Amino acid sequence: MTRPHRLLLGVAVSLTLAATATAQPATQYPTSWDPALMQRADIKAAMARLEQNFPQQVEEWIRLTEMPAKSGKEQARAAHVKATFEKEGLRTSVDSIGNVIGVRKGTGGGPTIVIMAHMDVVFENDTPKKVRRSGDTLFAPGVGDNTASVANMLSTLRTMNATKFTHKGDIIFIGTVQEEVGLKGAEYWLAHNPRPDLLIAPDGAYGSVSYGALGIFWTKYVFTSPGAHTLASRGRPTPVRAVAEAVERLYNIEFPALPDGAVMNIGQIHGGEIFNSVPQELYFTVDLRSPDPVLLDSLDRTITRITKEVAEKHKVGLRVEVDQKNQAGGTEKQLEGARAHPLVQTAVDINRFLGISSGMPGAREAVPTGATDANPGVVRKIPSIAIGGSRASGAHQLTEFALASTALPSTKLLYLLTATFADGIKTVPPGKIVP
Ligand SMILES: [Zn+2]
Repeated sequence: MTRPHRLLLGVAVSLTLAATATAQPATQYPTSWDPALMQRADIKAAMARLEQNFPQQVEEWIRLTEMPAKSGKEQARAAHVKATFEKEGLRTSVDSIGNVIGVRKGTGGGPTIVIMAHMDVVFENDTPKKVRRSGDTLFAPGVGDNTASVANMLSTLRTMNATKFTHKGDIIFIGTVQEEVGLKGAEYWLAHNPRPDLLIAPDGAYGSVSYGALGIFWTKYVFTSPGAHTLASRGRPTPVRAVAEAVERLYNIEFPALPDGAVMNIGQIHGGEIFNSVPQELYFTVDLRSPDPVLLDSLDRTITRITKEVAEKHKVGLRVEVDQKNQAGGTEKQLEGARAHPLVQTAVDINRFLGISSGMPGAREAVPTGATDANPGVVRKIPSIAIGGSRASGAHQLTEFALASTALPSTKLLYLLTATFADGIKTVPPGKIVP
């Protein structure tokens, strides 16, 4: 999730909070979280084992972080995840895009729960990734996003086996690929497999549950011309003028404000090799985002219409190249049904129970947005959420770091969430809900 969006969300939240404080009590959403689960012998054993084995979990986290895993080149990590799934007795396979899938079979008659943790990082494979540890802080590119969650997922699996955890529904563990370049692994798996009942993506902000899907369209607009030597360029079509005018006109489009509106960024302009010629190709890229599917489509069409008009006016060619089209899951209003599914409130309640919070005053515990592997599930109206893997900062930057100790409660969150739904999706009667 980008920074400007987070700031806007903050303002919107405090306004809402002030209004609600005086007007009416907070909406009580259905939950399936029942703290009595903690009294179950196997759950007690699981929590104890997670604590005892946490130093080994952190060691594995560090080893995984130091493995190359650029999107599309995740083989090293995929091999580690596959070997672990096989060793832990899962029905393991690798699909044709490279996702590593491990099925822990249920006894039958329960919901199918999918846990997706993306294995890829944005950093090239030759980027130094040696983890530097200082006290409780781990410094390395990719340590937070999303390696913490891969290690949390593997530790959850081992703990299920070590404590003989049984469940009715199948639990499908997936190390996904290419999340950072368009959620491609998650999209592929959901498009080629039976619809699961629940989807949990450990890859979000610590202390926050995201149940929405920010639509993200990445498009490249390539303007072309026959080119010409400078001496012959007077009055000749040039893609440079077309790009200049198109960029200006796109930034003059009215974009309704987030969180329900949209944001557009032109992140790249490339073209031209030498001083003394009209370039044959020049392009810019557009990153267009909105939670509102209708608004996203109409803005996308407006942008393409304007670039076409400009290309015609300047008598240059135009190629529109779509890099990714991740659909939007809906505005907060449109997601009221999703918010009311117990998966969301249960995650919020377990966060509270474990003392996991974002630490930002007034921050919402459940947010109607997200840019994770949960998105394709949200768009398909599968109850889907993203949860935090650790408290981390500097995602996508070389200066990224994560607080090691926070991965323990994050793993307990994943474990308890799965255990809560593994035998069925039952909501706790309002009277029994622990505030
Ligand atoms: Zn991520």
